[in-house]
Amino acid sequence: MDTAQPVLAIDVGGTKVALAIIDAEGTIVDDEIVPTAKSDDGDAIWAPVGEGIASLLQRCGGDITEVGIGSAGPIDAPSGTVSPVNIGGWREYPIVQQAKAAVRGVTGSDPAILLAGDGHCIALGEHWLGAGRDLDTMVGMVISTGIGGGAVIKNRLFAGTTGNAVHVGHTSVNAWGEKCVCNSHGCVEMYARGPALVEAARAKGWRGDDGKALTESAAAGDEIALEVIDHGMRAAAAGIAATATYLDIDHFVIGGGLAKAGPVIFDPIRRHLRDFAVLPYVADLQILPAELENAGLLGAASLALSITGRGPLQPDELIGLTDAERP
Ligand SMILES: [Zn+2]
Repeated sequence: MDTAQPVLAIDVGGTKVALAIIDAEGTIVDDEIVPTAKSDDGDAIWAPVGEGIASLLQRCGGDITEVGIGSAGPIDAPSGTVSPVNIGGWREYPIVQQAKAAVRGVTGSDPAILLAGDGHCIALGEHWLGAGRDLDTMVGMVISTGIGGGAVIKNRLFAGTTGNAVHVGHTSVNAWGEKCVCNSHGCVEMYARGPALVEAARAKGWRGDDGKALTESAAAGDEIALEVIDHGMRAAAAGIAATATYLDIDHFVIGGGLAKAGPVIFDPIRRHLRDFAVLPYVADLQILPAELENAGLLGAASLALSITGRGPLQPDELIGLTDAERP
């Protein structure tokens, strides 16, 4: 094993699939972005991704033997399939099998592949090279179009039985709330996701279009924007506190489109946390901004590197992630 040999990282989202060749230090050697095709046909969504993998591998000389995949969820890590809420054409879609075939098409042999949730990959990325690099325990969380997360506990990724642990966005913070897209009620995501904040602000007369404009209005002192964000971040704080309380977590690292706005998001979260993170062991819960632009991709790379023990975590430190797909 050439310890310097790079790996293929794949980060699957509802709007784009990011592909990158990444070395053992976390340097992106080459990358390719493929827009997520809108289709009911799963293979039609995969086709441009497979082509992207082929051209990326050809450009890099094709010497890839490990692959890490982070995908929007839910996923089924033991069976290597994904059913992302925001990619309707993929239900129990065999992404591991497909990625294996795409790599084999260039290299002539099957790569080893690990699949994890996108929130878990963001946690892994930030834990490896970002705001969590000096922490042994943290939740990595995204506040963006959706809300997700993943936990590293005592330097082990806690993936759960099927790879979906720590789904902060679909944790209910209001048992009497309206029905969520996931069919539960009163989920964090219903109140704190960017599009929900924008919709609430527009209903009160604010005239912007997206989450970025809303956070800019808030930063400029717009009262509607401030009020709506405060309301949404109270739900986020309740979800964060619930997660920290049941997992006994002392740090959250939060990234994603909305979180990039900084204090207008972080200040209300920290303020509302005082109402929810109240037991002594979570009373000092620290909320840190994420530091990486590509945390999901880097986390997928760390998964791939871990297959041969070259990553920041060893294979037995990925608790719940199957090795069934290893050759
Ligand atoms: Zn939900």
